[in-house]
Amino acid sequence: MNIKVLDTTLRDGEQTPGVSLTSLEKLRIASKLDEIGVEFIEAGSAITSDGERESIKEITKQDFNAEILSFARPLTLDIDYCLDCDVDGVNLVVPTSELHIHDKLNTTSDKLIELSNNAVDYCKDHGLVVELSAEDASRSDVDFLREVYVHAINHGADRICVCDTVGILTPDSSFELFSKLNDLSVPIACHCHNDFGLAVANTLSAIKGGATEIHTTINGIGERAGNTSFEECVVSIDRLLPEFSTNVKINQIYHLSKLVARSTGVYIQPNKAIVGENAFAHESGIHADGIIKNSATYEPMTPELVGRKRKFILGKHMGTHGLNNRLNELGFNVNQTQLEQICSDIKDLADKGKTVTDVDLHIIADNVLQINQEDLIKLDQVTIVSGNKVMPTASVKITVDDDEIINSGVGLGPVDAAINALKDLDIFNDIDLIEYHVDSLTGGTDAFIDVIIKLQKEDKVVSARGTEADIINASVKAYIAGVNRLLRD
Ligand code: MN
Repeated sequence: MNIKVLDTTLRDGEQTPGVSLTSLEKLRIASKLDEIGVEFIEAGSAITSDGERESIKEITKQDFNAEILSFARPLTLDIDYCLDCDVDGVNLVVPTSELHIHDKLNTTSDKLIELSNNAVDYCKDHGLVVELSAEDASRSDVDFLREVYVHAINHGADRICVCDTVGILTPDSSFELFSKLNDLSVPIACHCHNDFGLAVANTLSAIKGGATEIHTTINGIGERAGNTSFEECVVSIDRLLPEFSTNVKINQIYHLSKLVARSTGVYIQPNKAIVGENAFAHESGIHADGIIKNSATYEPMTPELVGRKRKFILGKHMGTHGLNNRLNELGFNVNQTQLEQICSDIKDLADKGKTVTDVDLHIIADNVLQINQEDLIKLDQVTIVSGNKVMPTASVKITVDDDEIINSGVGLGPVDAAINALKDLDIFNDIDLIEYHVDSLTGGTDAFIDVIIKLQKEDKVVSARGTEADIINASVKAYIAGVNRLLRD
């Protein structure tokens, strides 16, 4: 059985506290959603604002395969705005629980059904596809819920959706609810929230109970604890439910996840399934050793399946086998004594509470192998002018091969200004900063700041770090360390 996907990253996902996407970001995400194979894209809520409508129009202008929907309440006003945006359909959201009908809308069940029917009629008269979503369906009386759906279907609704608006279903109750509604004559969708961390499990149970469409958001973003995570749900269907499938090209999942994380600024927790930094990372010696012999020993799927690569993390649980593998990848050839020395140096560092990165490994391996090369670029001085109503300005003095170079730059903030002062110089020309991460290692304003960056020159990528009490120094040091490594490698 093929399961269809409605992705609501651009509507429910954008309702994540603190998230607001530009038109261009929305278009980029929509293009990628279309390309990856989702059947329905909820592009936004047309009633919200002029800007929102511009974004939706940009999306409906494209020649996407996916059906483009807007959220709408069962009101002519909302639906007219959807029509103005030229969407294919509406996600018509009708509250069905006592709590919502009485306390939120201050109306009666009969009036609600009338409102719903009229809205469906109005949509169908104007050529819109209607997916009727019952809001708070999981806390609604099932008989009433069915009544709302039957009326809507009789008025021409094309699909219906059961919303677990506050995420209170469990896998059992989700299965039960969908089993009671799966005899209706149109496809039934499932919209779950993750308040108890059960959204994906409940969605899978809904499928077992008869749902043929699922609502998801990329990285599971959304209001409060978020929605059903697209990547977890789609990959679970693919790997764990052999009798079901989707049309999603799952090897593009990681790329899409990263795009959404970057655009929304909602970063992915490291231990998140499928797309988290650690999802295919191995540290423990026994695990790493097993993985190298046969990856199936400690991986339920290959990282390549979802467009990723396996990582071995260096730390105190690491064994020499995994370490040797990583050293070879970095271009080091070491003998057994050197390998054991490097391993013990790393464990010392890890015992001090430090995350050991490739940068640290490089330094340690260089030391053990006594191949300390001179850095090509040395930082002599950074001066910053920054403050209220001042354009952040930086001047830098560096030495390149014994030549002293001085330059200055401006930027959005002091770090940006300092990096711009460097980037201007010929030697940094074809080097791209592709990631920049800041962490505070302790709590106060006197905290040590840990900056980790990733740089790219053609197809070479290196990461580097700077740890200082001063965020600008830390950033510039990390940047120069990375460039030195790129130029040395
Ligand atoms: Mn929702």
